[in-house]
Amino acid sequence: MAAQETVEHKYVYDFAEGNRELKDLLGGKGANLAEMTNLGLPVPPGFTITTKACRAYLTTGREPDGLAAQIEAHLESLERGMGRRLGDPDDPLLVSVRSGAKFSMPGMMETVLNVGLNDRSVVGLARQAGGSADRAASGDADRFAWDSYRRLIQMFGKTVCEVPGEEFEHALDEAKRAKGTSDDLDLDADDLRGLVDAYKKIFAKHTGREFPQEPREQLDLAIRAVFESWNAERAVLYRRQERIPADLGTAVNVVAMVFGNLGADSGTGVAFTRDPGSGAQGIYGDYLVNAQGEDVVAGIRNTVPLQELERLDKTSYDQLLGIMARLEEHYRDLCDIEFTIERGKLWMLQTRVGKRTAAAAFVIAGQLVDEGLIDLDEALHRVNGAQLAQLMFPRFQVDHEFQPVARGIGASPGAASGTVVFASARAVELAAQGRSVILVRRETNPDDLNGMIAAQGILTSRGGKTSHAAVVARGMGKTCVSGADALEVNVPAKRFTVGDRVVNEGDMVSIDGTTGQVYLGEVPVMPSEVVQYFEGEIDPETTEDPLVRAVHRIMTHADAARRLRVRTNADTGADSARARRFGAEGIGLCRTEHMFLGDRRELVERLILAEGGREREESLAALLPLQRADFVQIFREMDGLPVTVRLIDPPLHEFLPPLEQLAVNVAVAQERGEDVAKEEALLAAVRRMHEENPMLGLRGVRLGLVIPGLFAMQVRAIAEAAVEVARNGGTACPEIMVPLVGAVQELETVRAEAERIIAEVVGDSGVEVLIGTMIEVPRAALTAGQIAEAAEFFSFGTNDLTQMAWGFSRDDVEGAFFWRYLELGIFGISPFESIDADGVGRLIRIAAEEGRAARPGLKLGICGEHGGDPDSVHFFHSVGLDYVSCSPFRVPVARLEAGRAAITTAGSDSR
Ligand code: PEP
Ligand code: MG
Repeated sequence: MAAQETVEHKYVYDFAEGNRELKDLLGGKGANLAEMTNLGLPVPPGFTITTKACRAYLTTGREPDGLAAQIEAHLESLERGMGRRLGDPDDPLLVSVRSGAKFSMPGMMETVLNVGLNDRSVVGLARQAGGSADRAASGDADRFAWDSYRRLIQMFGKTVCEVPGEEFEHALDEAKRAKGTSDDLDLDADDLRGLVDAYKKIFAKHTGREFPQEPREQLDLAIRAVFESWNAERAVLYRRQERIPADLGTAVNVVAMVFGNLGADSGTGVAFTRDPGSGAQGIYGDYLVNAQGEDVVAGIRNTVPLQELERLDKTSYDQLLGIMARLEEHYRDLCDIEFTIERGKLWMLQTRVGKRTAAAAFVIAGQLVDEGLIDLDEALHRVNGAQLAQLMFPRFQVDHEFQPVARGIGASPGAASGTVVFASARAVELAAQGRSVILVRRETNPDDLNGMIAAQGILTSRGGKTSHAAVVARGMGKTCVSGADALEVNVPAKRFTVGDRVVNEGDMVSIDGTTGQVYLGEVPVMPSEVVQYFEGEIDPETTEDPLVRAVHRIMTHADAARRLRVRTNADTGADSARARRFGAEGIGLCRTEHMFLGDRRELVERLILAEGGREREESLAALLPLQRADFVQIFREMDGLPVTVRLIDPPLHEFLPPLEQLAVNVAVAQERGEDVAKEEALLAAVRRMHEENPMLGLRGVRLGLVIPGLFAMQVRAIAEAAVEVARNGGTACPEIMVPLVGAVQELETVRAEAERIIAEVVGDSGVEVLIGTMIEVPRAALTAGQIAEAAEFFSFGTNDLTQMAWGFSRDDVEGAFFWRYLELGIFGISPFESIDADGVGRLIRIAAEEGRAARPGLKLGICGEHGGDPDSVHFFHSVGLDYVSCSPFRVPVARLEAGRAAITTAGSDSR
C-alpha cells in the first residue's frame, strides 16, 4: 500500500486487513466480510471504505483528501488479484458497491451492482460468460450480459441520479407486454438490448446527460451515492425508530461481482442457521435459481426453500451447510447469510448475527448454553426486557367461529387486528386518528416504512421470511404475515380478494404472525404462555414448551445475578397478588388517592371543602374503616414483604366538581327561580380552592398540612391494618411515604404526628412502621442531606421529578410538541419514558449520595414510570438504588433488566 497512508488517514481497508471487531469503522457488513475472508471462506475479493470517510464526506460535502488515491491503489490490487481490469472491454472486472453501517438497516441505504459495464464491456462480459465453446449457446451469455447492463442503468439511475424508478419498471413491463409474457426470464438478448436503449433514453431525459461510460466515474459516483444514502429520508426514519445514532455514517464495500444469474446452475439465496421465528434448530432459507441477490430480498419472484438446493446442487449445498455450522460456532450465535452460486461455485456475500424474534432470542440463548457455546451470563445478555415484554402480549383465541381464510408465512409474531389499508400514507392517517390498521401490500419496499411504523400489523401476498416486510417487521417487533399467496391484492382498487371474498379498505382483518394465519373480522385474544408461566399456570420443569423453559432458566439466572430488588406499584389486593406471582418483592408505591374514586369520591370532596370541624370529622370517620380494610387486603397479599403506602396525593381538581360546569348549573337554576343556596355555597368553595396550575398547587404533603386530620386518618388506618394482620398471624411491613416534600420541615411536621399515632396504635403488637418520603421535587433532591435526617427511606418519583426538572407538564407535552423535539434530536426518547440521565438523573445521584452520607442505612427506591423501563433500570442500578418499583406487568421486565445490568456487559452489543 502507498506509503502516505498513515494510520489516521487510512480510509480504505482490504478485506484481509479487517475483522469483526471493527464494526465502528468498517460497518457490520465490511467487518464480517473481513472476518469470513480471514476464516478462509469463499468471499469474493474486495475492500471497504470506512465510516470515517463517509462522515468526512457528509460534513464537508466532498471526499476527504487521500481517499481517491487509496481507492485507486486498492482497486489496482483487486484488479491484479482477479486478473481483470474494471470495465475492460475484452474481459471486464465488475464490482458491486454496497452500503454497510455499524447497525444493520435492512434495505434503507443503497447498493449498486454491475459497476464497470458500458457499451463496450457488455460485449466482453458476454464473451466471458460464454466461457468455453461447449458452454450454453452464446445467446444465453448475451442475454445475461445485456440483462446485467440494464440492471446497472436502472440501479445507477435510481440510486445515483434520482431517476424515478417507476419509469424503468414501466419500460420493463412494456418490453414484457410486447413479448406477450409476464416473466423477465422470457426476454431474450435482443429484447434486453432494446431495453438498455430505452433505459438510456430515460436516464438522459432525467439527468440531461448520457449514461456515464467511464467505469471509474461510475464507481466514484456510486460510492458518493452510498455515502449520501445515509441521510435518505427512510434511513433517517428507520434510525429514529430503532434508536440508532444519527452520526455514525455508513461504510461502503466494493466487491468483485459474482453472478447468480448465469443460468440454471447459478442462483442466489439467504439462509439462517436456526429459525429466526421460533429458534428451532435446522436450516432455514430461500433460494432463487438464476437470479441476482436483490431479487430475493425484494420478494419479487417466489423462492424455493433452501432444502431444494440439495437436489439442485448437492456439492454447493453440502459446502454451504459446512460453512453455516462453522459460522455458528465461530460467532456463537444464530447467523444469517447471503450467498450466490455462480456456475456451481459457492460465494459468501454476507454474514451477520441474525435478527430474530423475541421468542427465538430466548430459545436460542437457552440452546447455546446447552451446546456449551455460551454461559448463562452471556445468555442473559443475549435477551432483553423489550423482547420479554413482547412475549407477554396476548395471542388470538381461535375457535370454530373463526376460520382462517388464508395462510402465509409467520414472519414476525404477535396477534394484530385492524382496519385494512393499502397505502402507507393512509396507514399513517388512520393511525393518527387512533385507529389500529393492518397494512396490506403485494410486497413492501423501503418507501413503505412510514406505513409499517404506523400499522399494527403487516400482511403481504408475496415474499418469504427474508422479504423486506419480514425483516423490517421483525426488527421493529411488529406482527407480520408475508407471502399469503391466496390473496389477490389490488392496490389501486383498494381491495384484495381471497377465494370468492372481497375485502375492501376499511374492513377488519386479524393476522397471526406466529402461525401465518389470516382471519376476516376481529378475533378475540388470550394470554401468552409466558404470562401463564408467570401466573404459575404452566410448570416450567415439566412443560414441553421450549420458550417457557428458556424464559424460566434465564429469569432464574437474572434473579440470582441482580442486585436491585423489584417491587410493584399496586393499590388493590388483586394487583398485589398478581404482581407477587410475577415476582414482585413488595410494593414500592400504593397510591392511596386511587382508593378514593367511585362512591368514596364524595366523602373526599366533602372533606376538602368542609368549613367546620364537624363535617370534616364525619368524613374522616367514614373513611377510616374503608381505608383500613383496603390496607388489610394488601398487607395480606404481600405478607412478609414491605409495602410502601403513600399518603394521599391528588391534584385537587381531580376531586372537586368542575368549576365551569358548576357555575352554569347554578346560573340556570337561579334563572328558573329554584332554591340554590347549597349549590351556591359549593360553588363559592370550589372557586376559593380553584387553581390555575393544580399540579403545582395544593397536593401531596401540602394537602396533609392544610387539611387537619387527613394524614392522621390514613396513618391510623395503616397502623391498625398492620396490627390486625399481625394479630391474625401475618406479617405486615408498612412503610409510610409522604409525597411532594420539598423541605425537611414539611416532613418533620407530618412525621411528628405520625409517630405519635403509630406508637398509640401498635403498642406491643411487634409491628414496625417506617416513615420516609418521595423525592420528586427538585428542591428535595438538592437538600437530600437535610431531608434524610427525617426519612428512613427515599423513593424517587421520577414522573414529577421529570416534570419539574424540565418544566414540562406531564399531562400535556408528549402529545403536544414532543414530535418536534424528537425530530430535532433534542432527545431521542421522551424523558417521561426513559430517564434523562444527564439532568433528572443528576438530581437522583445527588440525592442518593447526600442522603446516604447523612443517614448510612437509608433505603433508596424509585417508583415513577421509569421503574419498568429497561434503559432506566440500568441507570438505577448504576446509581446504587436498592429497588425499582413498576406496574405488575413490567415486574418480569425489570427483574430481567436488573439481572442484565448486574452482569458484565463489556464488549457485547445486545442490539
Ligand atoms: C411520580 O411522580 O413519579 C410518582 C410516582 O407519583 P405520581 O405519578 O403519583 O405523581
Ligand atoms: Mg408524583
